[in-house]
Amino acid sequence: MSDPLNNSYYAATAQKWQSGEFAGDLSFDVAVIGGGFTGLSAALACAERGFSVILIEREHIGFGASGRNGGQLIPGLRWSASELEAEFGRDRADALFDLCWRGNRVAARIAKHSIDCDLKSGHLEAAWTPKDFGAMRREADYLAKRFGYESDVVAKADMPNHIASPLYHGGIYDPHGGHFHPLNYAIGLAQAAEAAGVCIWEDQRAYEVTDTADGLGVITDCAHITARYVIDASDSWIGQIEPDLGRYTVPIMNYNIATVPLAGADELLPSDAAVADSRFVLNYFRLSADKRLIFGGGERYSQTPPRDIAAFVRPFMAQVFPQIADARIDYGWGGAVAVTMNRLPHIGRRGNVFFAHGFSGHGALVTTLAGELIAEAMAGTAERFDVLANLPSRPFPGGKWLRQPLATLGLLYYALKDRLG
Ligand SMILES: Cc1cc2nc3c(=O)[nH]c(=O)nc-3n(C[C@H](O)[C@H](O)[C@H](O)COP(=O)(O)OP(=O)(O)OC[C@H]3O[C@@H](n4cnc5c(N)ncnc54)[C@H](O)[C@@H]3O)c2cc1C
Repeated sequence: MSDPLNNSYYAATAQKWQSGEFAGDLSFDVAVIGGGFTGLSAALACAERGFSVILIEREHIGFGASGRNGGQLIPGLRWSASELEAEFGRDRADALFDLCWRGNRVAARIAKHSIDCDLKSGHLEAAWTPKDFGAMRREADYLAKRFGYESDVVAKADMPNHIASPLYHGGIYDPHGGHFHPLNYAIGLAQAAEAAGVCIWEDQRAYEVTDTADGLGVITDCAHITARYVIDASDSWIGQIEPDLGRYTVPIMNYNIATVPLAGADELLPSDAAVADSRFVLNYFRLSADKRLIFGGGERYSQTPPRDIAAFVRPFMAQVFPQIADARIDYGWGGAVAVTMNRLPHIGRRGNVFFAHGFSGHGALVTTLAGELIAEAMAGTAERFDVLANLPSRPFPGGKWLRQPLATLGLLYYALKDRLG
């Protein structure tokens, strides 16, 4: 699975780390498939609870979305808290809010394991239209009154305190959000997991999960692993191992660039917040520790990447920041965002196989929590796991061949609506 899309700023500035090697017939309490945030967090939390754990990663730690994302830590889920309450009622909204907004398990892990990953606080949601700003203000007001969750409503006139772009009609600055170097966070989690006793095995693909006389079997390139529990955290690739689970997500390609370090970087984003705007195909951007602008924009509904990723993303950056329209771009990369029908993650358990996938572009923060809740459920307390596992989900229509084209049609419709205002 060689990947031309993984030539990223993150890969170029990653901490050095390599996993061990294993072979033959192996036996563990837990086998985790996938070395992204979900799998690493679950593996670490399982080991902390006394389980023996092996984690198998087909390529290398952070190879998937976890090592390529925009690094934006945005509290919550893809639905607003008020939407969740309207749909699921007060009690479930309370439980979801406690888990997904209040607890920041990423910051807790970074602090506990001293993970060096350029963590910064502050996230700005920027309004593309006055109508979007109105909706944001109402939501901020609801969050404050209902949950005591404070954020700053930023009027259009005050936006220059956060962003040097004339495009936006206001925004919400959330001090609980932030940004980080996602690949170094993943590697830090891997180091912490290994220190806790997890056997991590890179370059090792899992093909199948089977029932055996001794529990579950995981067949990989070089081993047969027996385990009491399996955690499938292979996200966009989940359908290759569990075809039925693969029906619940489609992969949408998304692209990022990193400019050269910019002399005037602090003028572009004076509060150093990560920013995401309210377009359907959103622009999202932030500064790296060495003052590059990392900018994500433009989705492609084809699985084929653009020939020149920098040329594909640059117009979006130039629209937001005309002052750096011609800045040199050092890196361009992309990855698949696993998206569910309703944009809520699909989390659950089938027998002794646990899974969590389809975070729909909103997984940098909540995947660490999801992994921990899987470990908690495995250890016998499923109440908090069930809060996420009870979120509704249904497979995309269309079967193996029509699923992607039908989902694409739907997404194109919303992207077009966005463009037409
Ligand atoms: C370009 C991009 C930008 C994004 N930006 C943001 C953002 O700014 N903020 C945000 O909140 N979210 C963002 N996301 C989403 C976020 O990155 C994901 O939700 C999150 O990283 C998912 O983590 P995961 O561990 O579940 O999956 P992944 O990180 O994809 O991990 C799955 C792992 O499983 C491995 N694997 C697959 N098949 C096998 C197999 N058969 N055997 C062994 N291993 C296997 C893969 O190699 C991979 O490493 C973005 C995603 C992308 C692609």
